[in-house]
Amino acid sequence: MIEYRKPAAAAKAPAPRKTHGSVLLCPHCGTRTLIRTSRQINELFREGYSICTSCAFMGKYVTHYIAECVPSVSPNPRVSLPALPRHQAANDIAASEAAEADQMDLFARSG
Ligand SMILES: [Zn+2]
Repeated sequence: MIEYRKPAAAAKAPAPRKTHGSVLLCPHCGTRTLIRTSRQINELFREGYSICTSCAFMGKYVTHYIAECVPSVSPNPRVSLPALPRHQAANDIAASEAAEADQMDLFARSG
């Protein structure tokens, strides 16, 4: 009998986990877009172009920080953001994850 064994590297790898990367959804069809290009405007702002692989829409976007939830251990003196209480950030993150889970159910495929 042949026994299958995982390669040593795979056995040591951490278990897969849900990622929380940035995602831009197409404003027209709701599909995740591809970031074509982006550039940092200043410490707080970033802009770029994204392309929808479903409906061909291309748009310019901007992202920026609006609050500080946990202070930096090496703060930049040029950055000043209003403080957001940690419990509010935790509530916002939990609500966002719950909404994301509901959204994934909408797109679940049968069969
Ligand atoms: Zn689209």
